[in-house]
Amino acid sequence: MKEKIRKEYNRRVRSILRTELSGRNKIEAINSLAVPVVQYSFGIIDWKTSELKEIDTKTRKLLNMHKMLHPKADVERLYIPRKDGGRGLIDVETAFKTATIGLDHYLKHKEGQYPKQVLEHERFKAKNSISKNAAEFKMEWKNKALHGQYPKILEKPHVDTVTTNKWLSSNLKGETEGLLVAAQDQAINTRNYQKVICGQQVESKCRMCSQHEETVAHIVSGYEVLAKTEYISRHNNAAAYLHWSICKDHDIEITNKWYEHEPETAIYNKDNNVTIMWDMPVNTDRTITANGPDIIVKDSVNSTCKLIDMTVP
Ligand SMILES: [Zn+2]
Repeated sequence: MKEKIRKEYNRRVRSILRTELSGRNKIEAINSLAVPVVQYSFGIIDWKTSELKEIDTKTRKLLNMHKMLHPKADVERLYIPRKDGGRGLIDVETAFKTATIGLDHYLKHKEGQYPKQVLEHERFKAKNSISKNAAEFKMEWKNKALHGQYPKILEKPHVDTVTTNKWLSSNLKGETEGLLVAAQDQAINTRNYQKVICGQQVESKCRMCSQHEETVAHIVSGYEVLAKTEYISRHNNAAAYLHWSICKDHDIEITNKWYEHEPETAIYNKDNNVTIMWDMPVNTDRTITANGPDIIVKDSVNSTCKLIDMTVP
């Protein structure tokens, strides 16, 4: 029976991973279509914790093969809810614990002699199966020297955790999601990673500037040369989305897709008397160096001006 269950579980995981579903939906599908195959056998078939662990390991291997999970990305993070920065997969080991607790509760409250005997037997078994819950997974994730840096930053008072983790609830491709998570885990093969984590005899300074340590953070936001080109275009792309949304709110004609939107220096809507300006310097009585906000929304009816400046930190 164990072999049959394992085979069916793997078959379902495989066929889910081969679909065109988004990363989030693939995980959802594994949770609701594959995990129950094993789950329904709990309390009937005598699983060993090590056997359930093997099933989880096999699942991760399949995720690796389908590029949903980077081989060097954090394992615990996979099992943390998406709202907390994880990917929300159910591990069969935890599913087993939940089912066992449920069964225990049922047997305790059921009248009669047999339930009591089963309870004693199950209690004895349960001693040998200690598995983790979400809080423990989170703790382990946080305690890691490298992977733990990201969840620690998430807890800083200036971080809005809800919006920060919101991208994990969107429908990105599994591959894209896996790569982004790996980058946050700093599992990308940078020179700093090669030297500090893998212990290789290599120069850990950046290949481009030779000034700073080559870390993920340095590449995405700390490299002066990219600041003038790539970082600006990234900033402008994000600001263009904002501009597109503002135009939409003010009944100004826009493209269907936000990424095809090219902001004009100034757009005026005569129906509601609103002018939206893009990257336009403002003349002031006293000289101000930072006089060009990204977007200005000038509302002539209410005599208000909204100055919007944004950054991709
Ligand atoms: Zn550099």
